[in-house]
Amino acid sequence: MAHTQRALLAALLLLAGGCGRHAEPARDPMRTAAGAYERAWPVMGTMLHVTVWDEEESEAAVIAQAVRAEVALLDSLLSNYRDDSDVSRVNAAAGSGAWVAVSPMTVEALGAALAFAEATGGAFDPTVGPVVDVWGFYREEGAMPSASAIDSARALTGWQLVEMDRSPPRVRLPRAGMRLDFGAIGKGFAVSRTLEVARDRGAERIMVDVGGNIGVSGSAPGGGDWRLGLRHPRLPELPFAIIDVARGALATSGDYERYFEHGGVRYAHIIDPRTGWPVQGVASVSVLAPDGTASDGLSTSLFVLGVERGCAFIEALPGVAAVWVRAPEQPNDPVRVVVGGPEAGRVELLAEADVRRCGDAAR
Ligand code: AMP
Ligand code: MG
Repeated sequence: MAHTQRALLAALLLLAGGCGRHAEPARDPMRTAAGAYERAWPVMGTMLHVTVWDEEESEAAVIAQAVRAEVALLDSLLSNYRDDSDVSRVNAAAGSGAWVAVSPMTVEALGAALAFAEATGGAFDPTVGPVVDVWGFYREEGAMPSASAIDSARALTGWQLVEMDRSPPRVRLPRAGMRLDFGAIGKGFAVSRTLEVARDRGAERIMVDVGGNIGVSGSAPGGGDWRLGLRHPRLPELPFAIIDVARGALATSGDYERYFEHGGVRYAHIIDPRTGWPVQGVASVSVLAPDGTASDGLSTSLFVLGVERGCAFIEALPGVAAVWVRAPEQPNDPVRVVVGGPEAGRVELLAEADVRRCGDAAR
């Protein structure tokens, strides 16, 4: 673990653009704060919300447009749904032997994804795409695949197989049918990049929300920490906890985003690459981390690692807090929550819940 954690920390340090912060429903009061300029656009198959404080409206509009342009650029590089994106071109060339020239930003995002893959022993795997596909999650038509279809898809995964050069920036996948998937880290990467862009343009206090990946720069309106709400995985209108954020970014991975039910079991879009099956037992994981890339990468990683391995993984990661909500076995079961990481003290539960800390004796 020491070696893999060093690799992860190196990646976090390289990528940390400063201080992002995020949350979900509890941001609304801040959005309506006096002096805030707000815009929202559809991007990356989700919504981008930008809120800029303390700027002249014309300057705030320029900053918000720069943020929008950066997210649109990243979408044009990393999207799985556009034939001309870097990622789609790399996937289409898989197995041909040809290198595909890509943007330096694509290589940066892929480097971060591969660092998470290495650090988590492959629990996070940006090549898991063929398995996501066989379960129907790209088409939003989830259905139970056959065991042999799962095995064939798994044979086309493996982050160690990805070939990547930084200079010139280029990528190659050795087997036909392999495919990269940035679904687990692209939005958080966009949060990190947009906060850098906004700061370069002079923004001092800004919140960027890319589909629930939330980053903030500067202190909260009125000064002090940001108080960001965590979405309840089964009651989306209710924040079930608040994280007090002095620095960092927040992301949530959930079993409620894309899923189907079969035989009374919920199968959701986050795959355990070791088995090729959707992860069971976790409803959501929210992660506070030093920047957007780290929080997004960690939220998916900790979803797959689960409570026991995940708690050990983040124990010594600076600036990190994680909140797992276990999947209820019956609809009326009490909410079971596990909180961990060096910043765990920043989490305040609002709803009645059965709360454990990482390190408490396992039940
Ligand atoms: P997130 O909501 O950030 O946790 O990302 C989930 C998305 O990442 C899924 O919809 C898949 O496209 C992709 N994905 C699923 N399982 C994994 C995994 N084990 N490692 C990396 N990406 C994954
Ligand atoms: Mg993620």
